[in-house]
Amino acid sequence: MSFVTASVNTEKVNLLNFDRKGLVAFFVDLGEKSFRATQILKWIYQEDITDFNQMTNLSKSLRAYLNEHCTIIAPEILLEQIASDGTTKWVVEMGLGNRIESVFIPEEKRGTLCVSSQIGCALACTFCSTAKQGFNRNLSVAEIIGQLYVAQKRLGDKKRITNVVMMGMGEPLLNFDNVVAAMNLMMDDFTFGLSKRRVTISTSGIVPAMHRLNAVCDVSMAVSLHAANDKLRDELVPINQKYPLKDLMNACREYANLGPRKHITFEYVMLQDINDSIQDARALVKLLKNVPSKINLIPFNPFPNSDYECSSIEIINRFKDILYKAGIVTTIRKTRGEDIDAACGQLVGKVKDKSRRHLKLQAVSSANAT
Ligand code: SAH
Repeated sequence: MSFVTASVNTEKVNLLNFDRKGLVAFFVDLGEKSFRATQILKWIYQEDITDFNQMTNLSKSLRAYLNEHCTIIAPEILLEQIASDGTTKWVVEMGLGNRIESVFIPEEKRGTLCVSSQIGCALACTFCSTAKQGFNRNLSVAEIIGQLYVAQKRLGDKKRITNVVMMGMGEPLLNFDNVVAAMNLMMDDFTFGLSKRRVTISTSGIVPAMHRLNAVCDVSMAVSLHAANDKLRDELVPINQKYPLKDLMNACREYANLGPRKHITFEYVMLQDINDSIQDARALVKLLKNVPSKINLIPFNPFPNSDYECSSIEIINRFKDILYKAGIVTTIRKTRGEDIDAACGQLVGKVKDKSRRHLKLQAVSSANAT
């Protein structure tokens, strides 16, 4: 790889931190014409040039300024693991003892990159291994778009990333500005040009941010639902105590109604004897009655010390049939990259936990063991 492998958090201005709007403002502030923004985007993302001296359509004085004050640095891949099904997991360095993970999932007609938005996660969903690690900080725009940039470079011409899902480590809507700028960059014609249908943000349900999203960034939305009543969701996805189902469903309806053919994809992890009964399926149908929906059932992926078991395939199919008969498009997510711990909820990286949550959880689990 040809980019410089230093920390992305340099003293200089890292141009990977700007979307097109940000770059225009940056160049106009310098007294330059706004089209410098698209010229720079093309050099970086389409020509693969990060050396300002090689950017021949910029004036000499601008190149000198950029050399002195700016830089273009993507995060560094530390480790690559390839699963037997071709799923590739990269451990990406984020400095000061932190590492995040991104995952590439190749399919016949598309290639999906699962991107992280935070180092760890501040939420405490009980079935997710990222949650057990606590939280360090939000990723910058450079660190988010950088995951796509280094991944595509690593894959080369052989495989193209056609889809991005913000389903890696972290809650993307709690890092709103940086995630929005990074997603807008992914969809920019001068970078990767991904269509809005191929960029998906997944959220545990940060309702105020869901209301704000469409005005600034029009992407597909997935909501991690996992329960059809507040009592159970309060337990599995504790942010539900703050933003209960009624508010969440209103936000979903509003987002789906903002565009033609729009729908919300609801993710529902299948936990044995917890949320997989016939009654649960019927409650889900009722809950989603007035929301244009698709449902993605996710077989639970276990991790060390997890408290749950995955529902059997018979139970998952029974659940699916009830939804299907009620007219809801339902798919069962194929588990990918299991042998390298790259599946949903298994991403851990390395988090210097500032929230001290991992210590509390360790104390609870050792108290339970004695
Ligand atoms: N915080 C965001 C982004 C994470 S996306 C969100 O909650 O949507 C990752 C998806 O995998 C979410 O739907 C999450 O609930 C689900 N998930 C987490 N842990 C899992 C596990 N152990 N097995 C299966 N799915 C899991």
